[in-house]
Amino acid sequence: MAFKISRMSHPSKTPLAAAPAAPQTESLKPSNFLRQIIESDLEKGTYASRRWSGCPGDAAHHAKGAPDPAKIRTRFPPEPNGYLHIGHAKSICLNFGLARDYGGVCHLRFDDTNPEKEDTEYVNSIIDAVKWLGFDWCQPGNTLPYQASDYFDFMYRAAEYLIEAGHAYVDEQTPEQMRVNRGDFGKAGVDSPYRTRTAADNLARFRQMRDGMLDDGSMVLRAKIDMASPNINLRDPAIYRIRRATHHNTGDKWCIYPMYTFAHPIEDALEQITHSICTLEFEDQRPFYDWLMERLIEGGLLASPPPKQYEFARLNLTFVITSKRKLAQLVNENKVNGWDDPRMPTIVGLRRRGYTPEALQLFAERIGVTKSDSWIDYSTLEGCLREDLELKAHRGFAVLNPVKLVLTNWDEVFAPGHLEPCTQPALPHPPEGVESPTRHFTIGKEVWIEREDFEEVPPKGYKRLVPPRIDGNGNATPGSKVRLKGGYVIECTGCTKDADGKVTQVLATVVPDTKSGTPGSESVKVKAAISWVGVADGVDAEVRMYDRLFLDANPDAGGKDFLETLNPNSLKIITAIVEPSLSNALPGQNFQFERHGYFVADRIDHVQGSKPVFNLAVGLRDSWGK
Ligand code: ATP
Ligand code: MG
Repeated sequence: MAFKISRMSHPSKTPLAAAPAAPQTESLKPSNFLRQIIESDLEKGTYASRRWSGCPGDAAHHAKGAPDPAKIRTRFPPEPNGYLHIGHAKSICLNFGLARDYGGVCHLRFDDTNPEKEDTEYVNSIIDAVKWLGFDWCQPGNTLPYQASDYFDFMYRAAEYLIEAGHAYVDEQTPEQMRVNRGDFGKAGVDSPYRTRTAADNLARFRQMRDGMLDDGSMVLRAKIDMASPNINLRDPAIYRIRRATHHNTGDKWCIYPMYTFAHPIEDALEQITHSICTLEFEDQRPFYDWLMERLIEGGLLASPPPKQYEFARLNLTFVITSKRKLAQLVNENKVNGWDDPRMPTIVGLRRRGYTPEALQLFAERIGVTKSDSWIDYSTLEGCLREDLELKAHRGFAVLNPVKLVLTNWDEVFAPGHLEPCTQPALPHPPEGVESPTRHFTIGKEVWIEREDFEEVPPKGYKRLVPPRIDGNGNATPGSKVRLKGGYVIECTGCTKDADGKVTQVLATVVPDTKSGTPGSESVKVKAAISWVGVADGVDAEVRMYDRLFLDANPDAGGKDFLETLNPNSLKIITAIVEPSLSNALPGQNFQFERHGYFVADRIDHVQGSKPVFNLAVGLRDSWGK
């Protein structure tokens, strides 16, 4: 029996060209317990005998196939009931990364066995997220992601087999009776009165369940294992339930659905997964996983050797919430502007914030995998973005809090209305083999500078624009000289103010023959170079200054109401003035606004050349909380 997906649309048209890549040398990657397990399995040839028939299927199906060209098979199995977040990114990078590094294949599988919750909006967003992160599940002959609901027929057959072999029974106890009779950690469970029914009776009952002759919730199919087991998951877990619900893939074909604990191991086995990697909360399920594999291999239904489950610690990130339910609450209660709000830890949100796939991959690698829960500091994530953008983000000047600077001698030095062209490299330290593009802008009589770059009464050590002064002892200090970066050296001469004493213009003179890059331009020494934007060619831009969404490092720990710790200042929108090259940014393009931080042209709202909108991705330094 083979399974093929037919219903799900899929954007990719390019299957992986050939057999999986050869294993890479491992010297660059730090080892971890999963890598050790895989390396040991490869050495021992644990999975060398496996066959693969080109698509998922049972033992007979795979027996017809050739030896599996994939050395290992892993999978990323999201439930399509929400948007993926940074925790899923860790799991994606882990599973796809291991497959890539060990000559294997990683499957994308929609775990859609629960009929109520799925939505194609989520299916598409998951496909996009995996591809955007830089991974691909395509294999020769197969370009579609798998979906667990395609395995319903097999799951049903497996359930009938378990009944026939005396390993499952239909229980008619009420849910309450079942709960009580399951016992607890200190108390063994009590056998159900239905536990001793004959296989024939059970089969007839189960078929009635399937045929819609019984009410929702009136009975369940249970595995028959051990009601006294110290592991409560082995006390005859429910494996099938009656639930009348239309399924997005199978419609109304079924009114019984497999339980997750039964479905998941089967999905892995049909797909010939070797290493089934999940988060720690599934550790107690592992004995049932193994029990089920053994029974179905015994019965000849599944190929041997079976997949094995391994658990790792889920990602906990400070200042971040990763519960899908709570993220949905933020969206539904309009605490943020949708799933892709740049403050959200969703992959669509991180992307819109300016995160790159490389930064997230670096993050996943850096935090590694462990078997015990811990918290990762948010600054680790930000550090990875800075590291990725440092060498590749184009630079640009943006003045976030502008005040006008007037060069009072401009008209005499040049000519009234003169604009002098200037250039700066977009990449001051281009990676090897890359030539930096050049940014073009002009300087004229008036330019915008940051308000904080002028101080009438400078604090100690201040190196930027200061007007001429006479101190208490009558000593005169001339106005300071600074370089307008990429332009000229200027000397501060004073300022104008409004009635409230607020500075309205900074005044300075341009020092002739000091244009950056011209001979002799360095002869006038300055203590500082400041960024600026010409009044003539500067462009107004909307800049969204984002900060952490929560003030509390652990917003939902210990039953806290995470909505109480929302940061009221997590978004401030300002109008900045940016140099012309920035207004021509492509949506989604990353920049370093010199001295301010990394920004990204908003993927949705930025319109190239006419309406620049930028999001703050991350500051230049880790300054939060300092
Ligand atoms: P739900 O709360 O709805 O069960 P989930 O976060 O478990 O959501 P799934 O769609 O079941 O979401 O997750 C897909 C995969 O992502 C699983 O294999 C799961 O182990 C992994 N995963 C989910 N959250 C994290 C996390 N915070 N860190 C690492 N892996 C995660
Ligand atoms: Mg889950």
